[in-house]
Amino acid sequence: MRRTHRRKPRPLLGRIFPWFRVTATFSDKTCRIFCFACRKEKAFPKKSIYRLKSCGCLRNDLISLNKTVHGHKRKNHRTVEYTAYMNLRSRCNNPNNPEYHRYGGRGVKVCKRWAGTHDFPKFLADLNLKPSPDLSIDRIRSTGDYTPRNTRWADARTQRLNQRRMKRNRSLATSERPSKSPKTAVQE
Ligand SMILES: [Zn+2]
Repeated sequence: MRRTHRRKPRPLLGRIFPWFRVTATFSDKTCRIFCFACRKEKAFPKKSIYRLKSCGCLRNDLISLNKTVHGHKRKNHRTVEYTAYMNLRSRCNNPNNPEYHRYGGRGVKVCKRWAGTHDFPKFLADLNLKPSPDLSIDRIRSTGDYTPRNTRWADARTQRLNQRRMKRNRSLATSERPSKSPKTAVQE
């Protein structure tokens, strides 16, 4: 007889997987998951969820992504989301990127959650699929890093307005502040 002590399995209910959270478990060996990618709930056999990547909504995207990751680096095989992800990492990490001086060169970083070479699924789970083709990656606070909270898909107009607003806020903050308190006066 094996002497291995059998530990009680962790409860499935509430468990968080990279692509979804388990929101309900049922006695008929099924459970319900909340998919981070499409934000919908779906039922699955409990056994099957360990291999699940999204609820199925990303199936086609992941297949084409797999082709990309496994050597098929032809440009037309890359999903727009994957391209956006690789570009933002390059802007922050690669000094040879033509945009580096505006990003990595200014201290803009990619958050830990998205930083690794295999972290694209997390990026996709946080930002979802690009809702419309005319959008691109935007930082809400243009001085902040690329984090799930500070990053969104936005159109060019929104991005321009946002940049203008940030600039105005910055100049207001420096001009309206009484010069008495040199401690709080931050040099840009
Ligand atoms: Zn889904």
